[in-house]
Amino acid sequence: MRLHTKVLLVVVPLAVIPLLILGGFAYDQQRTTAVERSSSQMTALMDQMTRNFQMHQDVAEANVKLFADASLVRAYALTEDEEERYVLMLPSLLKLFSSYLRAYPDYSEIRFLLPDGYEDARTTSMPTPNVTEEEGGTPFFQELARFEGETFTRVSTRPESSEISLQVARPIRLIDLAVQDPLNSKPTLRGYLVVTMRLNFMAEQVASSRVGASGHTLIVNEAGKILFHQDPSKLGQQLPAPLLDKALNTRGDTQLVSASYLDSKSLLSARRLHDGLLLIGVLPEAELLEEGRRLGKAVAWVVLGTVLLLIIVLLVAMSFLMTRPLRHLMIAISEIGQGNLTPKIALSSRDELGQLVRSFQGMAGNLEKSRVKIERLAYHDSLTSLPNRFRAHETLRRMISLARRENGKMAVLFLDLDNFKRVNDTLGHQVGDQLLKETATRLTSILRAEDVIHQEVPRNRSSVLARLGGDEFVILLPKVNGSQDAAMVASRILDIVKVPFHFGHEEIYSGSSIGISLFPDDGTEVDDLIKRADAAMYQAKEQGRNNFQFYSASYNLAVLEHISLESRLRRALSNSELELYYQPLVQARTGKIVGLEALLRWNDPVEGVIPPDRFIPIAEDSGLILPIGEWVLREAGRQLSAWQAVGLSGAFVSVNVSAIQLQRQDLVSIVGQVLNDNRLSPWQLELEITETALMKIRPEVIGDLDAMRQKGVTISLDDFGTGYSSLSLLQELPISKLKIDKSFVRDMLVDPKDAAIVSAVLFIAKSLGLRSTAEGVETLEQAAHLAKEGCGQLQGYLLSRPLPAAEMTEFLRSRKVMAHLKSTLQVS
Ligand code: C2E
Ligand code: CA
Ligand code: CA
Repeated sequence: MRLHTKVLLVVVPLAVIPLLILGGFAYDQQRTTAVERSSSQMTALMDQMTRNFQMHQDVAEANVKLFADASLVRAYALTEDEEERYVLMLPSLLKLFSSYLRAYPDYSEIRFLLPDGYEDARTTSMPTPNVTEEEGGTPFFQELARFEGETFTRVSTRPESSEISLQVARPIRLIDLAVQDPLNSKPTLRGYLVVTMRLNFMAEQVASSRVGASGHTLIVNEAGKILFHQDPSKLGQQLPAPLLDKALNTRGDTQLVSASYLDSKSLLSARRLHDGLLLIGVLPEAELLEEGRRLGKAVAWVVLGTVLLLIIVLLVAMSFLMTRPLRHLMIAISEIGQGNLTPKIALSSRDELGQLVRSFQGMAGNLEKSRVKIERLAYHDSLTSLPNRFRAHETLRRMISLARRENGKMAVLFLDLDNFKRVNDTLGHQVGDQLLKETATRLTSILRAEDVIHQEVPRNRSSVLARLGGDEFVILLPKVNGSQDAAMVASRILDIVKVPFHFGHEEIYSGSSIGISLFPDDGTEVDDLIKRADAAMYQAKEQGRNNFQFYSASYNLAVLEHISLESRLRRALSNSELELYYQPLVQARTGKIVGLEALLRWNDPVEGVIPPDRFIPIAEDSGLILPIGEWVLREAGRQLSAWQAVGLSGAFVSVNVSAIQLQRQDLVSIVGQVLNDNRLSPWQLELEITETALMKIRPEVIGDLDAMRQKGVTISLDDFGTGYSSLSLLQELPISKLKIDKSFVRDMLVDPKDAAIVSAVLFIAKSLGLRSTAEGVETLEQAAHLAKEGCGQLQGYLLSRPLPAAEMTEFLRSRKVMAHLKSTLQVS
């Protein structure tokens, strides 16, 4: 059962029961009041009717006495002479009776009866035939004859009219003064004066009697026959015996009794008007209940309304105060259950729910802390704090999918310490642990170190170091350009692990063997890459430790070549195997030789001449570029001053400088020495730096370049157009000259795009006030085009291939001006 259903089940009865009790009380009270009110109305009405009847009866009795005492009546009663009585007196008597009847319209008949019951004189208000003249046998007269009192009153139906009426009779007892002694004789009965009074006034009263909507009265006779009723159709009907009994028993009481009247429950009250006349008041209970029923209905509606209102108010209130907050809470808890330990709960009330929310947030916070802790424990190596095997695998999986998406390469390095087991066995676990920790620290420092070599590979690389357990480490290198990058990192690791470890007084020599696998060449799945790196590591161990091996033999060959080249290059310098060639630069306008670019050659005793493209990168990787570069500068300077001494050249010499030289060498002082030693002017020395190298060098060394330019040395931006330098950067850098890369010159006459680049570069140079050189000029057409576009100097096979110094001496001697070029340029 839902929460609000439960609350409703508790609260609704609490509100409804009192309302029902209250309604019940009100209903009862109302009913009692209604009954009392109606009863008292009915009682008053019936009292009034009874009084009215009594009054009419009293008046009638008084009138009968009055009529009977009339002298004419008395005289008539005393007259015995028939002639006198019927001829002379009767008409007067009847006239008197008629006048009475006119005066009292209620009276329908006045009669004079003889003591034996003979109807002696009779006057009626309406002409009705006389049915009986001899009344002596009628029950009425029998009773009257026995009556000893003054006035005799009876309710009866006159045979003439079948109408119920009140007969008021008065015996006329007289002393005949003519015959009797008034003192000693008793009066004798002379006859009866009988007045018949119609009860129309009662009929009218009954007809108009009304209590409430249908409360009414009726009059019945002793036998229960209805005599007067507002509904004429009821007249003559018989009242049921039990009802009549009840009425007879209750008469006179003011209290009403409940009884069934005409099939409906009613309250009855009765009054005896006269012998044989019973006034009954009827109050149908249905009517009395009607008001109660209305109240009941009102109460029912109020209860219903209250219940509905209560339900709505409760539902709304509970929704706002409880269910909605609870739902928020439930969602938050299920989120917590699903692992989101920092759920947002949109609830900030200060009540218990708010406290609950805060408790849950606190709980989630604690859970989050423990989760982080557990995660650390689960995914990190407790000794070195490095990620463990699980984390390493997970990371590798991510790297693989990233590399797959980006079509990139990556490398896995598997490292094993060479004599960890011996250290552990002989010096104990503590030292072993320390060795592992220190190794981790060294590896970390190396992998994070940033130097030029590192910068050769893409910037956003982030290598991952993990410990797989024991003395095994794995290094994941995402985004390597090729095996060379991996080899470089591996050799740096070998170097750093080789450095002796010092723990207290102990000096420990360690070493490592590294196996390397490459994605995608050696495998595309986590397990394959790790397994193969591991296998390669065993190879390294077999090779005599302290070295690295690629899983693929071909990479090992490349590395071997690299290594052998490197070691031979190391000797080349001391063995004077390096030599400078020179290539002239001519002024485009005149064809005059204005400069000579020094280009390095390596005459390897085994391989013969090795081009700089092959060995300069190795020299840069190994740092050999520093002594080599310095040698080039000094040699070029020396050669220029030698040519100058024999009057061969008024030109400058241009030397290629590596970015590493700028970073790690005090180039400013070397240049100063070269100029000094050879007594050269600064303008006679030009330094060529490639655009890509210039982009990479640290901002601090820009100052050095600027210092040299200030001195008068020309700084020339080599291979311009192949990098991505912006115009604003060009303006800021201390450059004097742009060298358009030979790739653009080569195709500029066939490819409009290259032609556009060449024009643009020349335009930029002109705009920024820089000099310009085009390299790789091989044809006269190219030369003519460049000259036309306003290029300052030209360099290329068209003028001369790079030549050894001795040949260049010859060359300089023979043609100071490139005659053929001159003519071409002048023609164009
Ligand atoms: P670079 O500085 O762009 O040198 C110009 C290269 O173009 C030279 O190649 C040159 O022989 C070649 N070349 C000249 N005229 C033409 C031509 O008309 N057509 C074609 N196709 N090529 C032409 P080289 O001597 O093999 O040098 C290659 C690169 O080695 C140089 O490119 C330079 O970056 C680097 N290098 C040479 N000597 C040194 C040096 O002493 N120190 C440093 N750091 N780098 C050097
Ligand atoms: Ca150059
Ligand atoms: Ca160049």
